Order: sequence, then C-alpha cells, then structure tokens
Amino acid sequence: MDVLALDSIHKSYGPIQALKGVSLNVPQGTVYGILGPNGSGKTTLLSIILDVLSADKGNYSWFGTISSKYQRRKIGSLLETPNFYHYLSAVNNLKITHSISGRGSIAEIDEVLHKVNLYERRNSRFSTYSLGMKQRLAIAAALLGNPSVLVLDEPTNGLDPVGIAEIRALIRQLSLTGTTIILASHLLDEVEKVCTHVAILKTGQLIAEGTVEDVLADEDILEIGASEPEQLKSILWSMKDIGTIETGESLILVKGPKGSIDPAAINAYCHAAGITVNHLVMRKKRLEARFFELTNN
Ligand code: ATP
Repeated sequence: MDVLALDSIHKSYGPIQALKGVSLNVPQGTVYGILGPNGSGKTTLLSIILDVLSADKGNYSWFGTISSKYQRRKIGSLLETPNFYHYLSAVNNLKITHSISGRGSIAEIDEVLHKVNLYERRNSRFSTYSLGMKQRLAIAAALLGNPSVLVLDEPTNGLDPVGIAEIRALIRQLSLTGTTIILASHLLDEVEKVCTHVAILKTGQLIAEGTVEDVLADEDILEIGASEPEQLKSILWSMKDIGTIETGESLILVKGPKGSIDPAAINAYCHAAGITVNHLVMRKKRLEARFFELTNN
C-alpha cells in the first residue's frame, strides 16, 4: 500500500515554477528520500503534502484518501526546528509542545524520549544538549501522537558527523518499528546510507524515482579479470548477447541494460573455454555519480 500518492502537483511563486507536475508514490514502511539541489522544490513539495501550502494544480492523497484532519494526525512532521526553551528540560519542553499542538499526551512523553534515546537526559536543560540531541528532541516532538508517517526536511542540516550518525541511527530504528519516513535532503551520501527509496528533483521536475538500487543502477557493469586479459577478451567477444566490452585500466568491463548480464553464465563460459577468471564483480553506481549524471551538475 502507498501511504502517499502525488498526482501532477504544480506550484508557482509568481513567475517561478517551483513544481512542474510532480507525481510520485511513497510505499508504506519505506524510508523515502526526496533529493535535489538547492531550489529544486523539495521544501515546497513537503509544505504542500503537509497542508502548509496549497498546490496550484494536481492532487495528493494520504493513506488512499483525500487528506482530512483525522489522516493528518497520523503524520508527524519537522519542517523547521521548533523553538525550544533553553532553560527548560526535555520533558518540560515536550509538555509545552504537547499543550500547543494538542498531539499525543503527557503520558507519551517518556516513551518518545526513549525512542530518540534521550530518556537518560530527560531532566537536563535544553541548553546543555549537543546539536544532535537538540535535533533528536525535535524529532521526539514530531513523534508525539504516535504517527505512522514522519516527514522531515533536511534532518541533518547543520550537524557534525557524530550528530549526523545519531540521526541516521534514529531513522533506521524508527523505520524498523514500521514508521514510514519521508525526508528531503541534498546530502546524497546520507540518502544513500539511510533511504530505501529515492525521488530526484531538478528545477521542479521529477527526473528519477524508485528504490535506491533501481535509481543507482540503470545499467549492469561487470568487472572481469584474468591473468591473460587479451585471451579473456577474445573469449568474451565470442559469447552471444554479451553486451558491450570495454578495456578498463586493469580489468575488462562488460556493460549492458539493467538485468541483462549474468555473471555466473559468463564465468561458466570462460571456464569452459579454458580461462580462469580471477576477478568478477558487478559494479554498483554510487548515488552521487547518478545524481550528477541526472541533474547535469
Ligand atoms: P533548498 O535545498 O535550498 O531548501 P528546495 O529544493 O527546498 O531548496 P524550495 O525551497 O522548494 O527548494 O524552492 C523551489 C523554488 O521556489 C526556488 O527557486 C525558490 O527560490 C522558490 N521559492 C521558494 N519559496 C518561495 C517564496 N516564498 N517566494 C518566492 N519564491 C520561492
């Protein structure tokens, strides 16, 4: 089931077309990354699905129905860091958040602090927290009301590597308990490490969407090596339907459309022809390389 479906969403700010007909589906239980360079429309998209902005054209639905107050309660969000009181503890800050938003209950506060691993520090003043802890408290606030979906805009912005790793671990942990997480980021590396699915936006248009694996790999590249590379190459040439063969620095690269290359069959063919393969690796494109390729940056 899809928790969120967008159908041709358009949004302009005066002459600036921020979203030009974006359609995408977020399957339940995924960690869905919305990736794009600055100004590509990520924040606009999140603001629309959270009813902060309205779209000019197009529709979206949460949980298969048009958004309602009841549906909205199942969605926790963090678009901007909330203004916590520096001299108050995490518990007292969350009490205030609860009384303003009406989400969740006082009894839930300990539970959300456990979830973000701040329970031990629940009575410390907010001002004594590291940036990573502050961001985890913001996520705890978004978790009040036990939402089944969490929407986060640039959740690791401004954090140091330790803080980033803490947020990454938290996202993984929340995902394991069944929460669907939708996050916008321009940090490709982070998206690659934590997301199961990705949508790439470029100047308001969706240019790729799918599982991270699918978006990464639009073609198969097999690295293959042997002690007699020339012999290996001529044997590969003789194999039917093998795709293109290129000579890399020290290895031979066999390239073909996604799913077309069968390493085991190639290995068996070479073996039968009397050549021992000493290297056989399917190369994975990194998201960053693919991102730059798609956005021509
Ligand atoms: P960033 O990574 O920099 O936050 P983004 O991908 O979230 O960027 P948006 O903030 O959605 O992108 O902006 C998309 C486009 O819309 C940009 O060209 C931006 O300048 C423009 N824009 C956003 N908000 C407004 C606004 N309130 N008024 C006018 N233009 C806006």
